[in-house]
Amino acid sequence: PTSVICFRSDFRLNDNPALREAIDAGPDGVVPMFVLDEHYWGPNGRTRLAYLMALLRDLDERVGGLTVVKGKPEEVVPQVALAVGAGSVHVAADYGPYEKGRDERVEQALADDDVALVRTGSSYAVAPGRVTKGDGTPYRVFTPFHRAWQEHGWRAPAPGVRSVPWIRADVRTTEIPDVDPPEGVTLPPLGEEAARRQWHAYLDHVDDYDDVRDLPGRDATSRMSVHLKWGTIHPRTMLADLAERGTKGAEAYARELAFREFYADVVHHRPDTLDGYYDKRFEAMDYDEPGDDLQAWKDGRTGFPIVDAGMRQLLAEGFMHNRVRMIVASFLVKDLHLEWTVGADHFLDLLVDADPPSNQHGWQWVAGCGTDASPYFRIFNPTSQGKKFDPDGTYVRRWVPELADVPAKHVHTPWEMDEPPADYPAPIVDHAEERAESLRRYEVVKTAG
Ligand code: FAD
Repeated sequence: PTSVICFRSDFRLNDNPALREAIDAGPDGVVPMFVLDEHYWGPNGRTRLAYLMALLRDLDERVGGLTVVKGKPEEVVPQVALAVGAGSVHVAADYGPYEKGRDERVEQALADDDVALVRTGSSYAVAPGRVTKGDGTPYRVFTPFHRAWQEHGWRAPAPGVRSVPWIRADVRTTEIPDVDPPEGVTLPPLGEEAARRQWHAYLDHVDDYDDVRDLPGRDATSRMSVHLKWGTIHPRTMLADLAERGTKGAEAYARELAFREFYADVVHHRPDTLDGYYDKRFEAMDYDEPGDDLQAWKDGRTGFPIVDAGMRQLLAEGFMHNRVRMIVASFLVKDLHLEWTVGADHFLDLLVDADPPSNQHGWQWVAGCGTDASPYFRIFNPTSQGKKFDPDGTYVRRWVPELADVPAKHVHTPWEMDEPPADYPAPIVDHAEERAESLRRYEVVKTAG
């Protein structure tokens, strides 16, 4: 018997339960396949696509020939299965709304040919939907979810596979397309080996995580988000290492992994929140139309150093430090009065770790309309946030060369200098005024609820 393994967002050969199942079901041969699904082929997400194509090339080498087929999954997956007489197609379960619908269609199409779609594992330590309150309803707040998630527990990492009887299917395959990342973006090291190396190197620093994670100048977070997104490492592998470490820093890090799982759980129960408000009252709020201010935000030319540094890091690296993601998001929503979706789309376009549940709910949390949200009236002051988390301006200087030589005293307030750097813009808004304006607009929401 033979089988098929369909890779989607689980690009690893180790600790991959779906692959183990495929090997058991296909001792005579396993076809490794990937579907180039046009659903993911939009104007959005070029960094993500460029990264994905590079990952496909990496996997293609590792399996000695990946079967890459262009088309609708419900059409091409059965073709591949039939071509090799496979009895089953193996996948890790996906939980996004499009992905769930897609898999149901694939399952039905395969069933017509008596082939089973077997879902084994997922890209989470605890699959979405597994952790519920006593009455079976989902958690809406992170802290109790986190507690229940820990109590639920997860499996130990599965041992690696020694050898796989890879085979190829005789079907029309597609060349892996060349997709360049947006200009100026350099893709980070990628693939399973790179993920493992990066994680092991980071583990030596994790004990300090809690103390330094909020300081963008230190660049002291793990940058594992992109590996988690593509499944080049599984979170349970990381959780096992963290438990072994057992330090306060390791615990704090595991809690962040739980945030990723919480947001996936929320989207599983509320798929509408990927592009709509979690708290519907906020639909009634008055928002501005995007214009020049949005462009200044995207270009990193708002005149607020920490905001501009973050937006320029995003342009250059396809990445932004978490603290700064919160600051620039707050600026877009509460200083520019734009809808969170406008900023979230830009992030999805450029972030190499673009992950719809974490991104859309990260934005909604900041905007005050999400789960367990920061209260709307808590409005980040970009200047004091900058002074607090980047006190000597290391981060700002790294990304905003116009401010590289400004003394620390003024690096977050260049407009207070006698002679501000001529090539750096003056602030595009008055934060105090916009703060008051935001609170005025919020009144509508408050009375609606
Ligand atoms: P570390 O600090 O090393 O954290 C370890 C891991 O924990 C991360 O890799 C990530 O998987 C998880 N994690 C940490 N913080 C969060 C969080 N707040 N929510 C969910 N998971 C978290 N994360 C994404 O992976 N993709 C996104 O598209 C994304 N968009 C965001 C948008 C906004 C507005 C905000 C505020 C946050 C967003 N995050 C997103 C969460 C967080 O900023 C990133 O996961 C983190 O910056 C990635 O860097 P790291 O791997 O060095 O993080």
